[in-house]
Amino acid sequence: MKTIITNVIVVTMDVQRNVYTEGYVKIEGTKITEVGPAGSLKDTKEELERTGWEIRDGQRGILMPGMINTHCHLGMIPFRGLGDDCKDRLRVFLLPMEQKAMDRDMAALSSRYAICELLLCGVTTVMDMYYFEESVAAVMDQTGIRGIAGQTVMDEGGCDAPDADTALGKARELIEAYKHHPRISGCAAPHATNTCSPQSLKKAWEMDRRNHVPFTLHAAEMDYELTWLAKTFGCTPIEYLDRTGVLDSHTAAAHGIHLTDGDISLLKQKGSGISHCIGSNAKAAKGVAPVLKLLKEGVPVGLGTDGPASGNTLDLFTQMRLCAGFQKNESRDRSAMPAKDIVSMATCQGARVLGLDKKTGSIEPGKEADMVLVETDSLNMFPVYDPYSALVYSAGASNVRDVYVAGTRLVWDKKLVFEDPLSIRKELADRMKQSAFGEIEELHG
Ligand SMILES: [Zn+2]
Repeated sequence: MKTIITNVIVVTMDVQRNVYTEGYVKIEGTKITEVGPAGSLKDTKEELERTGWEIRDGQRGILMPGMINTHCHLGMIPFRGLGDDCKDRLRVFLLPMEQKAMDRDMAALSSRYAICELLLCGVTTVMDMYYFEESVAAVMDQTGIRGIAGQTVMDEGGCDAPDADTALGKARELIEAYKHHPRISGCAAPHATNTCSPQSLKKAWEMDRRNHVPFTLHAAEMDYELTWLAKTFGCTPIEYLDRTGVLDSHTAAAHGIHLTDGDISLLKQKGSGISHCIGSNAKAAKGVAPVLKLLKEGVPVGLGTDGPASGNTLDLFTQMRLCAGFQKNESRDRSAMPAKDIVSMATCQGARVLGLDKKTGSIEPGKEADMVLVETDSLNMFPVYDPYSALVYSAGASNVRDVYVAGTRLVWDKKLVFEDPLSIRKELADRMKQSAFGEIEELHG
């Protein structure tokens, strides 16, 4: 299949940050083969048609790299909006309901629903961390998204494994099963610094490192995590990861809210990345990660939504705007955290955090064709002076017109090509009603 997208503003996010205000992109098979200004295109329309190219007129929209959600829990759609403003929501709502209601079928259905939402929002790659990840990976495969399925590892066990070693065994099988898959991989994802022993952390890290997949976990997120580590080991979460020997370029720490200058130097020195989940962090009143400092030191920072229970929306447009707002406000500087840097967090930096930067995250020949066409016809998208600014401050998920992953069109004119989200929603709602979620009053309305 050969496609050319013409009449677009191309935001490449390549190293030079080239923008082609009247540009085109050629896709052949799964890859981008050409990108440039319209004037450099040698073929005429007739020649393109004659030689079998499908031509997509971008109608002056903005073509950007597919966005990368570096931290998510796809299986948690049923929890969205549950006890949102409750002080101890995790223990009152989430953990008990997870034990009572979460199973393989619900995790798979929820993941399929969440992936529909991600694609419609322009997210083409997702790093997931949840349970029953063999089903999640299968759904990633079927829906066409690019993804990493992270099997949660916790010492006290979770709803799909009674202990850390069983979860590590599941992770091993998952990694093996997707070893040669072009879009999907598996990994062992320890839950957090304080819910896994150093031994479990080390086993997971060794497995991930050996298989060249990310090692991701919640870190420097919770007040009690910091207090416990300080009291027990006399160190910060990042120092603890370093002492345990699991901090290196494979490590993607989710949240990284509470970081000392020493932590930031360690992250820099070890080449580790941070997944910044500002929507989730702000809603839970956990604090604001020092993104400006991290970026200044060259630590890669990607954006994540966290799960639908934590951040509610799965779209990165919301995260981009929140990130801008919080960093500018914290530094009392309107010029801090410019839109270009924020788009890079949503795209190429996110890819770097997940070790996927050779494949995706920018629009360049040789990269996989993961791209999003953001239309500029809607009222909120006029005028456009600067495409970065338009993407961060004006655009929303509703402006996503087309989405390509590995050259395949998964969203076309704001509709999913292969999935029927309404029927998935119905199936998920029915499944929830048959479970402990059905006992929650609101659902009967
Ligand atoms: Zn999380």
